[in-house]
Amino acid sequence: MKLRFLGTGTSFGVPVIGCSCAVCNSDDPRNRRTRHGILLEDGDRKLLVDTPPELRLQLVAADVPRVDAVFLTHPHADHLHGIDDLRAFTGHDGNRIPLYLSADHQAEVQARFSYFLGPEPSKQPGTVVPGLELIPYHDRDLVDVAGFPLRVIGFPHGMYQSYGFRCGDLSLIVDAKRVPDDAWGLLEGTRVLILNALWYGSPHPTHFNVEEALAVIERVDPERALLTHLTHRLDHAELEERLPAGVEAAYDGMTVEI
Ligand SMILES: [Zn+2]
Ligand SMILES: [Zn+2]
Ligand SMILES: [Zn+2]
Repeated sequence: MKLRFLGTGTSFGVPVIGCSCAVCNSDDPRNRRTRHGILLEDGDRKLLVDTPPELRLQLVAADVPRVDAVFLTHPHADHLHGIDDLRAFTGHDGNRIPLYLSADHQAEVQARFSYFLGPEPSKQPGTVVPGLELIPYHDRDLVDVAGFPLRVIGFPHGMYQSYGFRCGDLSLIVDAKRVPDDAWGLLEGTRVLILNALWYGSPHPTHFNVEEALAVIERVDPERALLTHLTHRLDHAELEERLPAGVEAAYDGMTVEI
């Protein structure tokens, strides 16, 4: 299985609009972070995790001609509002892509994109909207998503639960503030752990900072951990220097074999 980081930035992205800090002005391409997206590939099967605002640019850069399914972690704009770009995969021959999303987010997502996901989509002749089949999942379900067996795990993230998963040796934790007490067992034996981290210091109400992420990594004890959903307060090269052995900073376009 191969994992590609399509986007590794927090909701503002990096560079931040109007910011003149060193990271936002850096020449290091690893400091250019689009919003969160991941592509999992196994053979010719492709699973997209989240549809961030830069989805088109990410998929063009990664030369992705199609995806078999999409898994949505939660409906914050930085994870969802590139959904329209899925038209490229579904528009021409009327095929539909399964979009897996949490049952507790479904009504909100449908309302937000009612013109193609609502109960009465307004189909205008000659126009193209994403063809998506909504498949709701529940916390702790084992879901076969395009041949990827995903154990869904919900993580507290302010007003939403954000859903990651365990898939074989991989565990993915996106936009989490805490690991629920009864979820640690599901992470046990993880070899590659991916999790969100914003910055060092000043705890955030809905996200791990780096220190909190490192505490999770220490307890799960994977062979390899990668931090994503990073802000402009983290310079890639400095972060890599500072992180302990076995922990890396992800960057846009990075691929990991699992
Ligand atoms: Zn986010
Ligand atoms: Zn900045
Ligand atoms: Zn979020």
